Amino acid sequence: MLGFPVGIFVANGLEWYFHKAWLHEYPSKYRNSPFFTHIAHHKRARLNHFNDEGYAESMFKNAEIYNEKTALIGLAGAATIFLPVAPFFTAGLYYGIWNYWKVHAKSHLDPEYAQKRIPWRYDHHMTSNQNANWCVTRPWFDYIMGTRITAEASETETNPLGMKLPIWLEKPVNSAARRLLKKSYSKIEQNSKKDQSDLKKGIEEELA
Ligand SMILES: [Zn+2]
Ligand SMILES: [Zn+2]
Repeated sequence: MLGFPVGIFVANGLEWYFHKAWLHEYPSKYRNSPFFTHIAHHKRARLNHFNDEGYAESMFKNAEIYNEKTALIGLAGAATIFLPVAPFFTAGLYYGIWNYWKVHAKSHLDPEYAQKRIPWRYDHHMTSNQNANWCVTRPWFDYIMGTRITAEASETETNPLGMKLPIWLEKPVNSAARRLLKKSYSKIEQNSKKDQSDLKKGIEEELA
């Protein structure tokens, strides 16, 4: 049973890694790669206040959607090797992959939902530095790796789990996270401050 939350946690790490390495770093070096459609997605979202109507289209009409869906189906297929030995873990991975699709697609059709429910994702697209905030469904690995940049454009989450928690629980969660992830938190604070001042000066980090 414990395998299920572990699978969700690993899926969050995969979100962070694939998004950073394969959807940003790789196409910025190889502009002819199929992953370059993600850079196009960024440009579209940026110009349309986070909206990307492509998410309402069929995957057979829209290359970005086709690439994203086939990559996710491929990942789910690869995850199946764990099924005979760790069924709950595999179920956690499947859930994480499905949830990624659901949350990402919904957010680009409903920017208000994104601002409130997944502010880290809204910031990924809308703040001065689009090479940060790699997580989609929850911001866990952005806190672990120190790659969260908070911005005023969205309603910043009040804890690193990115979940609504009662105050009695949120306080100890926040102080434990700050204690455990001291370096990451100072990086987050520094980068968020820099982002605020860059935004005011109209400086934007090069995307690709
Ligand atoms: Zn991106
Ligand atoms: Zn997006």
